[in-house]
Amino acid sequence: MVARYDLATDPVLKQQLLTVRRGTSFWHRKVQEIHDDHLDEPTRLQGWTRRHLIAHVGYNARAIQRLVSWANTGVKTPMYASPEDRAREIKLGATMPARALRHLDHHAAVSLNVEWRDTPPEAWAAVVRTAQGREVPLSETVWMRTREVWLHAIDLVNGARFSDIPAEVLQRLLEDITTAWRARKTDPGFTIEVTDRPGLDPIGAGVENDSRVTIRGDLAAVVAWASGRDASRLVLGQDVPAPRWL
Ligand code: ZN
Repeated sequence: MVARYDLATDPVLKQQLLTVRRGTSFWHRKVQEIHDDHLDEPTRLQGWTRRHLIAHVGYNARAIQRLVSWANTGVKTPMYASPEDRAREIKLGATMPARALRHLDHHAAVSLNVEWRDTPPEAWAAVVRTAQGREVPLSETVWMRTREVWLHAIDLVNGARFSDIPAEVLQRLLEDITTAWRARKTDPGFTIEVTDRPGLDPIGAGVENDSRVTIRGDLAAVVAWASGRDASRLVLGQDVPAPRWL
């Protein structure tokens, strides 16, 4: 039976579903603002035009939907058959006519949303595997997609800014990024001062009281830098390259 409302009951999860929908609308609005003639322009991602990026975000929705189906049916369906398969799909998708490309992006997102909506409370805890091989509860897929739609809207380079991203999303992004640095030991001991979030724990500070580098800026500026996209809005640390994240 198809529900018209989320079957999920956990209030945190329900809030996260609202955030991902907000991000999806934002992404679609930015894509819509791009005229067909400008789809071949470059994005912030090396080697990718807007066509590649839109194809990727569309296929990402389908890939995440496979994890939702996995959790709901117990039949293991990986996000992608292989990394090569994922890359090939994007490359091919980028050659589609503009209308088909937009259609893919839109329909894949709608379809994923329906699948999430109809997922019963108990299935959200089912363990699925991400493309990177991480075992996560299905509920994590909401965050995975949230990250994609907000960040890639900025990567389209048609006006979206980090300050458009909700603070709770920015904060979690920063946690993800600094956790990845720590796991790879690529954090040289940053002290990150988030000026508009004074209560935030010192993040990314690898070595306490012995930090060699201070990064200072508001949350949006810090995440723009940390995600490797734009250091220009930092107050301090503009010339410090952020370690690789993904
Ligand atoms: Zn992506």
